Amino acid sequence: MNDYLQLQGVRKMFGETRVLDHVDLSIREGELVTLLGPSGCGKSTLLRCIAGLAELDGGRILLENKDLAKQPPRSRQVGMVFQSYALFPNLTVSENVEYGMKMRGIARPARRSRCEELLALVDLEEKHDVYPQSLSGGQQQRVALARSLAVQPKVLLLDEPLSALDAKIRKNLRAEIREIQKRLRMTTLFVTHDQEEALILSDRICIMNQGRIVQDGSPEALYTAPRTEFVARFMGSYN
Ligand code: ADP
Ligand code: MG
Repeated sequence: MNDYLQLQGVRKMFGETRVLDHVDLSIREGELVTLLGPSGCGKSTLLRCIAGLAELDGGRILLENKDLAKQPPRSRQVGMVFQSYALFPNLTVSENVEYGMKMRGIARPARRSRCEELLALVDLEEKHDVYPQSLSGGQQQRVALARSLAVQPKVLLLDEPLSALDAKIRKNLRAEIREIQKRLRMTTLFVTHDQEEALILSDRICIMNQGRIVQDGSPEALYTAPRTEFVARFMGSYN
């Protein structure tokens, strides 16, 4: 199978600090890859580089063999969900979901029907006309997920989408995200610092530390054959 999204030697500096240090990463179409690492290791920065919210200081990012740097962020076909919900508070649920489609000039009837499909997908058909603040955290994240899928991205980036939620809601939404991802065969890069989440969700896990990917493999391989003590501790292979 071909690599769908490829990061080649990606580097990012903030001042003198090397936040991404030669990151290589390939994701196949339809795969869910988790980037797992401690706070501050560069996970969000990596997602922001893919989404076009931050510029690279070196290396390349290719989507279907095309260099993303040559495409403006809005036409990148990359969807992103953040840790905090980041919905527009003054727009209703359906206006939030339709926002990106509207920006791209998609006509109202098409927006409407796509919005209905997506709200059904995330189980929020009843909530079209309410405002975000009347929803629970889990429901807001589902709206954020629907909104990011609305523009039919080729890649979905999820930046710790569950970490602000209570344990029970987190587990339910975790399972739902995986189900939706599989159903849509959505190529997904999921970021977390929670090893249990990574073990349950992922086709493949990349362990990140200090701006580098230190090991990449199946959940089983990382758990049973960590190459370093850092990976072993992070995977909970021993405590
Ligand atoms: P993670 O998401 O893994 O917690 P981040 O990508 O947010 O890590 O941050 C990686 C490092 O880059 C941290 O040391 C952070 O302080 C630094 N950093 C992130 N964004 C900026 C910025 N805009 N300016 C300066 N330093 C930043
Ligand atoms: Mg982060």
